[in-house]
Amino acid sequence: MQVNIRKINKAAGKTGSARRRKITALLLVLAITMLTLATACASDKSSEKIPDDETTRTTGQPGTVTAPSGTNPATSSGSTKSELVVVTSVYPLYLAAAQVARGVNGVSVRNLTENITGCLHDYQLTTANMKTLERADAFIINGAGLEDYLETIARDLPDLQIIEAAEGIALTDENPHVWVSISLMMQQVENITREMIELDPANREGFVKNAEDYLARLDTLRREMHVSIDPLAQRKIITVHEAFPYFASEFNLEIAGVIEREPDSEPSAAEMAATIDLIKAQKVSAVFAEPQYPKATAELIAKEAGARFYTLDPVASGDLNNLDGYLEAMERNRLVLIEALK
Ligand SMILES: [Zn+2]
Repeated sequence: MQVNIRKINKAAGKTGSARRRKITALLLVLAITMLTLATACASDKSSEKIPDDETTRTTGQPGTVTAPSGTNPATSSGSTKSELVVVTSVYPLYLAAAQVARGVNGVSVRNLTENITGCLHDYQLTTANMKTLERADAFIINGAGLEDYLETIARDLPDLQIIEAAEGIALTDENPHVWVSISLMMQQVENITREMIELDPANREGFVKNAEDYLARLDTLRREMHVSIDPLAQRKIITVHEAFPYFASEFNLEIAGVIEREPDSEPSAAEMAATIDLIKAQKVSAVFAEPQYPKATAELIAKEAGARFYTLDPVASGDLNNLDGYLEAMERNRLVLIEALK
């Protein structure tokens, strides 16, 4: 999957600027010729047409010259100023990429889905999603098995450049929710930054500056969370789905169990009873719902087991207009944990 629009664009860009210089020189010669001709022969229409044609070509988009038909999006669309269009597969990566591209000229970042809550386990691409991806220069995915639809993309959009944000991260039990650990989110930000620089080297300085700022804020948050969470007496928690193992390992918490044994499916009565027994037996102090999932089952289990009930956010989805969404959600998690585990 490394055939890339990126390389094609670079080549096209170079050809384009070289062509532009030549054409500018040609135009100058033509202008002088025209001026001479106009003075000598005011009725020569044919010579006026040549510069018109050349002007049209110089304003044409260089990306369209050599890009394969129908696959090159951003650079071939005359109406948008964006030269690089990056699409992300999930909210936390959207926040990471948008932070890195913040205020950088000619780069646009958008998330594949807009109003979807949850983790997109077993997500099926829609026609609209495919259209979005057709117009993209690169698609930033989490990887680690989160995006089930990669085969569809490999088949239908074989030239789309795929960037795997979780690349190089050691997985626990093949769990894809790496971003829920702040340290691993930072690693994903670094991976994304490196790839965005490769896509658009001219904007390296802007990307690096933004990434450093964002990483510094994440690092501060991580330190504050350690200060708050490390001394808490209780360490055992129950969550709705398997989103928190990396978070738990970062802050030395223990996930005693999860409510949904299968992703996105309600537990059976027997499974609920087993979870209630486990909470009592292991003296788990708190059960955590997730903002992306219905709270009722988690709340009922907590009540039956005599445990506290709170909400912990794996930042799997959220407000796309708030680029600080990850930082703010984690800050809320910090405050919740101080209450829940004291
Ligand atoms: Zn999930």
